[in-house]
Amino acid sequence: MFNKKIGMLGGGQLGQMAALAASAMGLEVVPYDPNPDSPAFKVTNKHFCAAWDDKNALKEFALHVDVITYEFENIPTDTIMFLMQHKSVYPDVKLLQIAQHRIAEKNYLNEIGIPTTDYKLLESEEQCRDLMDQWQTDFVILKTCRFGYDGKGQALFKKTDHRMPRLDGEVIIERPVNFEQEISVIVCRDQKGAIKTYPAVTNEHRNSILHKTIAPALCSSEIAQKAQDYAYLLAEKINLIGVLAVEFFVTKSGTLLANEIAPRPHNSGHWTIDACATSQFEQQIRAVTGLNLGEIKPFKAAEMINLIGEDISNLKAYENNDKIFIHDYQKSEIREGRKMGHVTILKD
Ligand code: AMP
Repeated sequence: MFNKKIGMLGGGQLGQMAALAASAMGLEVVPYDPNPDSPAFKVTNKHFCAAWDDKNALKEFALHVDVITYEFENIPTDTIMFLMQHKSVYPDVKLLQIAQHRIAEKNYLNEIGIPTTDYKLLESEEQCRDLMDQWQTDFVILKTCRFGYDGKGQALFKKTDHRMPRLDGEVIIERPVNFEQEISVIVCRDQKGAIKTYPAVTNEHRNSILHKTIAPALCSSEIAQKAQDYAYLLAEKINLIGVLAVEFFVTKSGTLLANEIAPRPHNSGHWTIDACATSQFEQQIRAVTGLNLGEIKPFKAAEMINLIGEDISNLKAYENNDKIFIHDYQKSEIREGRKMGHVTILKD
C-alpha cells in the first residue's frame, strides 16, 4: 500500500502544481503554510495555516497526513525534526541542511566530486581584497549563506569600491564565473533507489529572476550528459527520496561548475508538465508516496517563460495557440518581480 495523503510544507506555486499532479492521480496534498493567501490552498480541500514553530498545529498536521514533503527549502530544520517524530519526511533533513547553507552546499558538492567555483566564508574586507588578488579578478560576488533567492541577499564587491556592501548573517565570497550559459538538471529517486534524470535545460535570467528555460539545453550533448551524471551522482550519494534540481554554469572553456541545489521541484522543470510523460511534480508525489517513478519521455522540445508581475495581465500573445500552455498560479496580488504564472511553448 502506498501513502495517499501527502503533507506539503509550503503552499507556493510549487506546492500548488504538486497538489494538481496528486489530484490527477486520485491522491490528496494537504499544504501547510503560515501565509493565508497561499496558492496551494486554492486547489486543495484541506490546509493548515500556522507558523513554522506552532507545535500544536504541526502535530495535528502530521497526524492528519500519511507522509510529508516540502516545496520550499527555507523551512526551519527544527520544524522537520519535530514532524519526523510522527511521520516520515522526504527528502531527508540532511539534504535540507546542506541546501540551506551555501558553504555546506559547496563543501558537500566538492566532497563528492562535483566541482564549483572557488569560495570562502567572509571574514573581513582585507581577506576579500586578498582573494581578489589571488583569484586575479576585479570583483567578487557576495551572497548571504542562508535565505537568498532570485538574486536577493547578493551583491558585487569591486576592487575600486571604497566600502563593502552589507549583507546579513554569514556571507560567502564567490569567485565570479565567466560563464557561457547556465543549465540545470532535475533528478528524482524513489524509495526503491531507482534514479531518473530529466534532460539538461538552458536557463536565461532577467534581473536575477529566471526568465526562460529552453529544453533541451543549448550546450553540447557531452556537457548535458555530464550535468545529468553529476545530478545522478548527487541523488545517489545523498539517498534522495523525491526531486532535486542542480544548477550549473557552463564556462567559456566548456567546464561545468555547480552553483546551487534545490531539494524540490524547480522552476526550470515546469516545462515537464506539458512536454513529458511524467512531470517533475508527479515524480515528487510518486517518490514520497512509495510509487515507482514514471517514465520521463520528453515528447517535444519546449520553452518555458515565466510570467513575472504584470506579465500575467498581458496574455494576448499566448492565447489561441494550440502549442502554448498557460499556467496561472492564482496569486491575489500582482507585485513587481513576483512569479505569477508561466507558459510552456511546445516546439516543432
Ligand atoms: P544564485 O542565487 O546563486 O542562483 O545566483 C543568481 C544568479 O547570479 C545566477 O543564476 C547567476 O546568473 C549569477 N551568479 C551567481 N553566482 C555567480 C558566480 N559565482 N559567478 C557568476 N555569476 C554568478
